[in-house]
Formats: sequence, structure tokens, C-alpha cells
Amino acid sequence: MRLSQFFLPLIKENPSEAQIVSHRLMLRSGMIKQQAAGIYSWLPLGLAVLRNIENIVVDELNKAGCSHLLMPTLQPTELWKESGRYDALGKEMLRFNDRADRELLYSPTNEEMVVDIFRSYVKSYKQLPLTLYQIQWKFRDEVRPRFGVMRGREFLMKDAYSFHVDVTDAVREYWKMYDVYHAIFKRMGLQTIAVSAETGAIGGDLSHEFHVLAETGESAVYYDKKFDDLREGKIEISGDEQRKLYAAADEMHKADNCPVPADQLRSARGIEVGQVFFLGDKYTKAMNVTIPDAAGTPFTPQMGCYGIGVSRLVGAIIEASHDDNGIIWPESVAPFKVGIINLRVGDAKCDSFCATLYDTLKSKGITVLYDDTDERAGAKFASMDLIGLPWQVTVGPKGAEKGVVELKNRKSGEKVELSLESALAKLLG
Ligand code: ATP
Ligand code: MG
Repeated sequence: MRLSQFFLPLIKENPSEAQIVSHRLMLRSGMIKQQAAGIYSWLPLGLAVLRNIENIVVDELNKAGCSHLLMPTLQPTELWKESGRYDALGKEMLRFNDRADRELLYSPTNEEMVVDIFRSYVKSYKQLPLTLYQIQWKFRDEVRPRFGVMRGREFLMKDAYSFHVDVTDAVREYWKMYDVYHAIFKRMGLQTIAVSAETGAIGGDLSHEFHVLAETGESAVYYDKKFDDLREGKIEISGDEQRKLYAAADEMHKADNCPVPADQLRSARGIEVGQVFFLGDKYTKAMNVTIPDAAGTPFTPQMGCYGIGVSRLVGAIIEASHDDNGIIWPESVAPFKVGIINLRVGDAKCDSFCATLYDTLKSKGITVLYDDTDERAGAKFASMDLIGLPWQVTVGPKGAEKGVVELKNRKSGEKVELSLESALAKLLG
């Protein structure tokens, strides 16, 4: 993409409404625009990141054997009356009527609808286990939307729902998803800690929240100090052993009754980027779902559900990865992998070097943003740092004369002068 054609409305001043760094950087780098409290437009740079996050989630879930579908954002209220949650959810749920005065709601979550799909088509135990998921916008009329996309009212969620013949199989899937979640977040460059959690309005008996530790996190979490040692690479613990270590969300942590001695216990702030629940038969029972088992006897399927805050993750990744100059995108989610800075547009050598870089990288499937504008050098460097692309290639008249360009790694800040060929080889490698 040529910057001269790309819609990238950067903001110089710090927006006064932004209280945390990710919100500030998302506004300054032209990723989002607020349209109403907790409701945002995703501008091209922000959308590119959102799509990359979605793609990682889809890839990992498909690998795990889950089936991707898409449910509507609007739902008739009948299903919610069947499950008993129509009244339970209160003002957080947005309700309205269509022209025929039928009651509708904007999905805050989709257990009811997915159970309705399940009961319409699944007629045999042989079709189980089954996990269905979607990535779809949700609306929750939060009392206090804040911190940009971190706590929006309209937000993008991945929600998965699994169906099982018995509790044992549902719990097996639960722990499988638990591992899949760690893998998903790791691919986005995030270290997450899974803490045992209450199940809230979703219901069920067993739950974990996945948190990115950050001072700006809205939740308090408590955990065994060994998790810090693990993160710092001081110790190694197998996945199974990690599951047994103490880690609890605020509501689950009982200071007087904690199995970890005080000097081994750590507390920190966390951003909840996902949550997994074992639901049991809460929804299938309320909605009268039965299917015949091998002997032909009807049974009520067991369920699990698994959410990821896709739009919140954009903010969480920035909270975890930035410096004073701007965002530092992990390559896996970066809106473009490479930024090319032409320091003298119109200079034949500079233009030709940039064209070679741009065309070659693009032809190899690498995403590139080419700054072909006539801004001054300082502004170009500052913008490139702000938007945080992992690699920057700067082409100036002196270097081009000598046949070299400068390659900068945004994360380490390291700069090297390389021939055009070597720079390309490095970026393609
Ligand atoms: P929170 O405790 O942050 O309000 P929740 O526990 O109510 O979240 P879940 O029902 O577990 O949310 O939803 C699954 C995921 O969706 C959460 O882990 C979170 O990452 C994301 N999410 C929930 N509410 C919001 C919101 N208002 N804005 C952005 N993302 C959200
Ligand atoms: Mg939650």
C-alpha cells in the first residue's frame, strides 16, 4: 500500500479523552474513531490488525476441530425467555422492537441461539462431540465504557460452544480449549495467565479467565510466584504442573484460605482477554434438548463455552508492547510487516530503490506500507515509529548513491546499512 493513497489519519496531539496508553496510541495512529460511548469505527490500520487477530483465532480453532459459523447480531427474544435469561440480564442487554412490534435484542452472547441450532440438526450421540464457533459483534450496554476498545459497548468476540455426551467428555474439551487458548495468545506475542474464575451470568461450574498482566488492567489477579519465575525463564514447569499452580481471579481469591503462603503469593492487575466455562446442562436442560444414546435412551447433552475478546486484544497487545515513540507490533498481528521510507521522492535513485523493494516484497506476499509522500524526514520517522511496523527500510539519496539502504528493527531499535539485495533477503527470510 502506498501511503499517499492510504487512509491513515494520524493525530499529533495526545487526545485528552484517552486515559491509558493503548487507547491513546490507537487514536493517534488512526486505528479507530469513537462514534458514541463505547462504539467505534475501525479505520484501515486498526481493521488490518483486527483481521490478523481473527485469522490466528480461526486458524487455531479450525486446527482443533471446531466448526466456524456465523450467527446474526439480532435475535428474537423467545429463545431467551426459554432459557430464563431474558430477565436475568437486565439493562446490559439492548432490546428493541421491529416494525411489526416483535421484540428483538442485540446479542450480548449466543448460548441460546447456538443451542437452538444444535437441537434443530443434531439427532444422534454419534454426532458428538461438536464445537461450533463464530467471530461476531456483541453489544453490552456497559455502565462504564472506557479505555477505548478495552471496554466497549459494541465489541468483537470469538464465542465457541461445545456439546458432549457426558461430563467427562465436556471436561476433556474444556482442558483442550485451555491449551488452545494459551497457543492462540502466544502466537500474538502475549504471555497470559489462566486464573480460576466465577461463572457469572453465563453459568456453569468450572471456569478460567485468561489475563494479560498490565498495570492498566481492570481486574485484580492472585497467583503463585512460580508464574513470575516461569515468565522470566528462571524455571520450567510442564503444562500439567502449571494447571495445578494457584491462580485466582479477585472474586475467587480468599486471603484467609489461600493454599499459597503469603511470601509466595503475588498479586497484579490483569486484562481479561478470554474466558472458558464448563456449562454442564444449564442451557440444554432449560431448552429441553435431548438426543438418544446408543441404547436409544434420551439424554441431555453437556456443554462448554469459550470466549475471546478479539477487539479488546488489539488494546491488550499494545499495552504489552509499546515504547515512548509508539506501538511495537508483534509480526504475527502487524498491519504491515514492512514500512518503506523514501527520504527524497522524485530522486530517480531513491524512487527506483523504493519501487524495487515495494514490488519485490509485495510479489512475495509480504505486506508493505510505502511512505511515498513528500513529508519531511523527521515526520516520516516519527509516523513510522508511531504505527509500529516491525521493520522499517529507509532509502535516502546518499545511501542510494552508494547502493545501500537502512534497515531498522522497530522492537530492538537496531539499524543496519545493507545493500538492496541483502535488505530484501533479510525481509524475505
Ligand atoms: P469483563 O469481566 O471484562 O466485563 P466478561 O467476563 O463479562 O468481561 P465474557 O462474557 O467472559 O466477558 O466475554 C468473553 C470475552 O469478551 C472477555 O474475556 C473479554 O475479553 C471480552 N469482553 C467482554 N466484555 C467486553 C467489553 N465490554 N469490551 C470489550 N471486550 C469485552
Ligand atoms: Mg469473562
